[in-house]
Amino acid sequence: MVKPLASVLALSAAISVVFAHAGHALEKRATTPGCSTTYAPVTAYPALDCVPFTQDPQVVNWLKLVDFTKTPTFKPSVVDATTGSTCPPAGTVIPADQCWWTCQKCEAPDDVTTCPTPGTWGLTYDDGPSPDSPRLYDYLKTHNQKATLFVVGSRVVSYPTTLKRAYTEGHHIGIHTWSHTAMTSLTNEQVVAELKWTEKAIVDTIGVTPIYWRPPYGDVDNRVRNIATQLGYKTSIWTMDFDTNDWNIPANITTASAVISTFQAWLPKVAGMKTGFIVLEHDLFPQEVDVAITGILPLAYQQKGLTIVPIAQCRNDAKPYKEGLGTFVLVPNNTTSPSGTNSGPKSSPTGVHSGASGLVPALAGSALAAGSVLAMTLF
Ligand SMILES: [Zn+2]
Repeated sequence: MVKPLASVLALSAAISVVFAHAGHALEKRATTPGCSTTYAPVTAYPALDCVPFTQDPQVVNWLKLVDFTKTPTFKPSVVDATTGSTCPPAGTVIPADQCWWTCQKCEAPDDVTTCPTPGTWGLTYDDGPSPDSPRLYDYLKTHNQKATLFVVGSRVVSYPTTLKRAYTEGHHIGIHTWSHTAMTSLTNEQVVAELKWTEKAIVDTIGVTPIYWRPPYGDVDNRVRNIATQLGYKTSIWTMDFDTNDWNIPANITTASAVISTFQAWLPKVAGMKTGFIVLEHDLFPQEVDVAITGILPLAYQQKGLTIVPIAQCRNDAKPYKEGLGTFVLVPNNTTSPSGTNSGPKSSPTGVHSGASGLVPALAGSALAAGSVLAMTLF
């Protein structure tokens, strides 16, 4: 099914084109037409929103970090120019051991796609930082809410101050590639360049090295996973089918009320799930931030039995960055409960935000202080 091109929005001299694909939505964002095909040495960072050249000395150096003899040899996919899909034509047999998330709905054992504890929502926003991100951060701050932010390298170098704010305010920062290209369509070397340039932009800006990365469109297979794993990253997607489709609002393909209805329909379902869940949302366009802060989160905060935390928190991960916690404050898991039997404030200074039933007990000052000291030590 091909959706019409519905809107084109200017952002940082980039245009955004939105596609949808049957079975799994694909979004092609911030792609600058006319990316040069002629190599020129990088001075500071690669051209924005373009797949970086792999003959650059910096990239050549990064390539030494990966033993490609250990990387599965599946050929790069081809992006359909009309649909944006990377999946081969219907009827094509994809090897089971390729484990292609978008085309086979295959999750690898190490994929981060859920929060382990039922009733826990791993809150994530992708594609920032953008001019609209501060409005999201303002709202989150008001509600003492932390989130995982999967940032695009090209946006990081465009809006470094915004990323610094996000990091300073304790959000969990992850990698969302340099140019937001479907990763299975890239060569092994390009995959390395996309991840490492984004890592470099983040390290240059906030001083820590993210471990979590999210493939654009969820487009990952065992070849791309292997490279990411060798570079020390954790492949993080979202719970299958938990896509709010908020990215379709700017394209006029859907409406904010439809997105909110989608979210609302999940709420009874998540109560019966054996795990918590991770949702796909974005903070690139104003409409995405609007629906988050005026629709989805206010609704979620009214929901009993829901604990809303960044992915690193829901997975009790004390090492969201290679350096440790950075500004992230990890609340010991024994201070939260999915049962809803604990009573306490609706939010805590640590950013663990629970629903109306108040799942997070009041934290002892000592616990918070210990977390803060730990954060400073490991920065
Ligand atoms: Zn994205």
